[in-house]
Amino acid sequence: MYSEQFKGLFSAELDGIREKGLYKRERVIRSPQGSRVDTDEGEAINLCANNYLGLANDPEVVRAAGEALTERGFGMASVRFICGTQDIHKELESRLSNFFGTEDTILYASCFDANGGLFETILGHADVVISDALNHASIIDGVRLCKAQRKIYPHADMGELEARLKESTDSRMRLIATDGVFSMHGDLAPLPEICDLADRYGAMVMIDECHATGFMGATGRGTPEHFGVTERIDIITSTLGKAAGGASGGFTTGRKEVIELLRQRSRPYLFSNTVAPPVVAASIRALEIINERQDLIQKLHANTRHFRGEMTGQGFNIQEGIHPIVPIMIGEEKATVEMARMLNDRGIFVVGFSFPVVPRGEARIRVQVSAAHSKEQLDRAVQAFAEVGRKVGLI
Ligand SMILES: *Cc1c(COP(=O)(O)O)cnc(C)c1O
Repeated sequence: MYSEQFKGLFSAELDGIREKGLYKRERVIRSPQGSRVDTDEGEAINLCANNYLGLANDPEVVRAAGEALTERGFGMASVRFICGTQDIHKELESRLSNFFGTEDTILYASCFDANGGLFETILGHADVVISDALNHASIIDGVRLCKAQRKIYPHADMGELEARLKESTDSRMRLIATDGVFSMHGDLAPLPEICDLADRYGAMVMIDECHATGFMGATGRGTPEHFGVTERIDIITSTLGKAAGGASGGFTTGRKEVIELLRQRSRPYLFSNTVAPPVVAASIRALEIINERQDLIQKLHANTRHFRGEMTGQGFNIQEGIHPIVPIMIGEEKATVEMARMLNDRGIFVVGFSFPVVPRGEARIRVQVSAAHSKEQLDRAVQAFAEVGRKVGLI
């Protein structure tokens, strides 16, 4: 029975969220995802999608999805191990293994599921997982589910990581878990140092490559390619829902015994429907496009350099880096909300991020650059930022 008391408790919680200025509203888009979108508040240049390569509405990706819809149907109405595996699911897994140069790959409905089903499956009481403090929520939740001892090191602090490794030398297995790219900062995990420590202390390395797959590294293989440590990474989790088409789907790729064990025991894989056939076929096409059209990767990084340079030139405090995630640091929560609103009014679709997504007093507007943006669109955005930044006294 839904009593007045229960209703009151939920309402009070919601009021608390509203009072702190943390209530999230969702803007409604009426067009396909793209560098320009038609929304319920008018047309806008979109600077907050994970559509890094512009493939979310790519005609060839859309065509591949349409063909699969006709030829393989809409859904599987089953989990993989009962009757939910088509040839195209197998093909996508083997294409992903080829793409990353790994031994095997397992698909999930999302990367959230891939992370949720990883740690519990491969680690037990006698093991230790050592996790970066800023890791994605899905890694945190996945780690919470497992029986291994949990240790956390402050963000990218290699001295502390080493200390955690030293404290756990009597454990059976140790796994270091980190985002390859951290989504709120756009900074890269120091993988060469992490791999050196892993070698010294006999630990495995797991990375979440959601904000890297398809566009980081010279050929889009991700953060390990960027740093030249590809063979030293044991487990990669990532998404098909960002650069690689942007619909949905995730995967874990790496050492073959690990993947085999996941297929036997990983709960989100065993107890939840897999990726729908049109999404599978479109993801295969998206991977082909990433291989064939390396100019998209180059365009993305040229756009990123241009936008970062122009914003710095205007006097904004942006976190330095090379990633298309560009955090414009504002600090104060209310000012951030206000600035995002003023930009939205000027046809620039951005979102302000504040506590608890980022630390208190470090509120920011996170811009994400895409290969689909034209230079004109980026320049218009910079002009709007400059105008608004001067109005609120930020620059
Ligand atoms: C987006 C993201 C996820 C979740 O990916 P989905 O496939 O959308 O579930 C997991 N980890 C990181 C680091 C992400 O950025």
